Amino acid sequence: MAQDRKQIVVFGSIVHDLISYTTRFPRPGESIRGKSFQQGAGGKGANQAVAAALLGARVSMIGKVGDDIFADFNLTSLKKAGVETAAVQRVAGSTTGTATITVSEEGGGENSIVVTLGANMEMSPETADGAEAVIAPGGILLCQAEIPDAATKRALEIGRKHGVTTFLNPAPGDPAMDQSMLAFVDIVCVNENEAEFITGIASPNPAEAEKAARAMLERGPRVAIITLGPQGCLLAEKDEGVITVSLLPGEKVAAVDTTGAGDCFCGSFVALLAAGIPLKEAAARSVKIASISVTKIGTQSSYSSRAELIAVGR
Ligand code: ATP
Repeated sequence: MAQDRKQIVVFGSIVHDLISYTTRFPRPGESIRGKSFQQGAGGKGANQAVAAALLGARVSMIGKVGDDIFADFNLTSLKKAGVETAAVQRVAGSTTGTATITVSEEGGGENSIVVTLGANMEMSPETADGAEAVIAPGGILLCQAEIPDAATKRALEIGRKHGVTTFLNPAPGDPAMDQSMLAFVDIVCVNENEAEFITGIASPNPAEAEKAARAMLERGPRVAIITLGPQGCLLAEKDEGVITVSLLPGEKVAAVDTTGAGDCFCGSFVALLAAGIPLKEAAARSVKIASISVTKIGTQSSYSSRAELIAVGR
C-alpha cells in the first residue's frame, strides 16, 4: 500500500454544540429563559479535521455519529470544509455526541457544559482495526482524548506499525488517561493542564513548561509541544538524544472567544507539517493562526481558510 505523506487521518470525536446564552445560570430545578441560541458542529476530532482541511490539507475522518439529525448537521459541516467522511459510521440506535452549553452574562461570559459523548463512546480497538486500510497509507494520524483510550491506543499502534507519523493531543485532559499509549506517539501536543496531568509538573511559566516538555519526551514522543494560551507555545524536539527547546511567542490580539483555540493549533500544525513545512516554522505559524481564531466568536466558524490567511498576509 503506497503511503501518501500529505494525507492526514483524524481518528476522533464528533460532538454537536447546543449553546444557550443567558443572563444567569439556572439553579437546580429552575427553568429560565435564554436570550439566544446557537448550534454548531464540534468535537475535538472534527474541529482539528476542519482546521487542517481549511488550510488546504487532504483530511479523512474516522469517527462515529448516531442516527439523529445532529449526525447530518455534523457530516455536512465536515464535508463543507473538504473533509472526507466515508469512514465516519452512523450507529443505529445511538445518539450523536452533544455538548449542552450555557453561556451566562453573570460571571462575564462564563460557561457550564454537559458533554454526552453518545456514539463517540462506541469507538473501540475494533473500530481502529476496521479502519486500518484508511490509517495505513496516511502521512499523519491525528488523535485526541474524547473517545475511549483503548480505541485511541490501537489507532496509534496501527499508525506506528505502518510508519505513519502519529500525533496525540490528549484533550480534554484526564488524570486517569492510559499513558502507555504515549509509547506509540511521535508528537504530543498539550495545554498547561494536560501537561500537568501527564507529568505532574505545572507550567505557569515557560521555564516550568520546558521541564514538563522534557518529562513528556521521556515517555516516548520525539516532539512535545505545550500551548501556553496568549504566551504562544513551547516546542521541545529530541534528535539522537539531543533535546532542542524553542519558545514561540504568542500574538497580542483582542481575544473574544478562545473556545477551540487548541484544536485550531493542532489542526493547523499537522496541515503545515503535511505540506512539508519544518517543525519549528509550523509551530510558529500555528500560534499565529490560532491567535486569529480567538478574535472571532465560535469554534469551527472561527478558523481561517488558506485564502483568508493569504489575504491578511499570513
Ligand atoms: P481551548 O481549550 O480553549 O481550545 P487550549 O487550552 O487547548 O485552548 P491554549 O494554549 O489556550 O489551548 O491556546 C492554543 C493557542 O491559541 C495558543 O498557542 C495561541 O496561539 C492561541 N491563543 C489562545 N488564547 C490566546 C489569546 N488570549 N491571545 C492570543 N492567542 C491565543
